[in-house]
Amino acid sequence: MRLQGKANSSLTVAIIGGGFGGAAAAVALQSVGIKADLYEQATSIKEVGAGIGMRPPTCRYFKQWGIYDAIMNKTTESYYMEILKANGDVIIREQWPLLTDDENERWSRLIHRADFIETFMDHIPAENVHLGYKAVKIIEHDDLVEVHFENGQKVEVDLVVGADGIRSNIRKEFISDCEPVPAKAHAYRAVVDGMDKYGFATDETFRVYVDGDVMVYLLPLPHRNQISFDVTVKSEDTSWRPDITNEEILDLVKNFEPRVRKIAESLTIEDYTCRSLFDIEPLENWSTNRITLLGDAAHAMLHHQGSGANMAIQDAGALAEALRDSDSIMEALQKYQAERKPITDVYQRLSRQEPTQESQTAFPEKATFEKVAE
Ligand SMILES: Cc1cc2nc3c(=O)[nH]c(=O)nc-3n(C[C@H](O)[C@H](O)[C@H](O)COP(=O)(O)OP(=O)(O)OC[C@H]3O[C@@H](n4cnc5c(N)ncnc54)[C@H](O)[C@@H]3O)c2cc1C
Repeated sequence: MRLQGKANSSLTVAIIGGGFGGAAAAVALQSVGIKADLYEQATSIKEVGAGIGMRPPTCRYFKQWGIYDAIMNKTTESYYMEILKANGDVIIREQWPLLTDDENERWSRLIHRADFIETFMDHIPAENVHLGYKAVKIIEHDDLVEVHFENGQKVEVDLVVGADGIRSNIRKEFISDCEPVPAKAHAYRAVVDGMDKYGFATDETFRVYVDGDVMVYLLPLPHRNQISFDVTVKSEDTSWRPDITNEEILDLVKNFEPRVRKIAESLTIEDYTCRSLFDIEPLENWSTNRITLLGDAAHAMLHHQGSGANMAIQDAGALAEALRDSDSIMEALQKYQAERKPITDVYQRLSRQEPTQESQTAFPEKATFEKVAE
């Protein structure tokens, strides 16, 4: 480590937030010899019941961090995405786009969010994970940052990583007072057991049904014999946790093909996680001298391109590499932002594009990303 003459092992980092971004940052920093402590306000690390798709650039980091096999063992490889009409007619069937230089990597690895976060947490030493630590005050000095927690504890570190999500207080206090932008849409998500009961037994295709303002995302998790079911619908109600009844959800999917209706009919409202969707506008800058943002805190985006968690994890990899390869924290933070922000800016824009019955492609990012990667 060349950082200000410090050995990697003596740089101290406090990561605020134990979501995908914070947990990935802890694993990534550890993989380059930096001891980072993770502080999460909740008293346990939990993820909502839902599936997620991991793209090859993200999975390449898992190899570097030594967690590839542990994660891959809990995934299913998917090669195709479909956009369908409500009645099940396929409008587009397309292979996942190539985001790397390896022709064989036209896939997405489908995983349950809880399995994913659990694997990260299994690879962070227990003494570096601090639950029930809500950061309430941060003071940046020339040579260190003080972090004060609601429980009365305080730490002094060289660098703070704000991985505190879309409503980041760290962003608000140090970087930008931008407010989350409502997408005027809700997402109702649940994981359904017994995938084989619904006629999707050996199917690894990721499907998006569209019917006017209603979209149903079906992400198969065959290794768990489950399906992740996500109903997204336009709504003027922008409360973070909208109130919705099971009858209203059943009504939304009443025109959909029988397999979709059957899934909805098997669920009760308690099975769903319901939230309004928000993103933020791209920020001009992610860092001060000793505080930086990562994941949704830096670039929250909508879920239409399934990219937010992938971006958070890739941020973690880029930040760790920049710290490993720089002479100062400031240089590292500049490198980190220079590498990541052009990519996340594009994904933020693309993620506002939702699939429609008129979509020409399932992956509007395809051409753009081949260009950005050049
Ligand atoms: C419906 C939906 C579907 C999605 N599908 C996909 C997908 O298929 N693929 C994909 O890549 N992405 C997807 N995403 C996006 C993805 O979920 C997010 O981008 C990702 O979870 C962001 O991770 P994060 O760690 O940055 O933030 P978060 O997961 O929000 O974590 C922030 C953490 O910080 C903690 N925290 C906040 N303040 C403090 C504080 N003061 N002190 C201590 N801790 C604090 C919070 O408790 C929380 O645990 C989807 C999102 C939605 C809404």
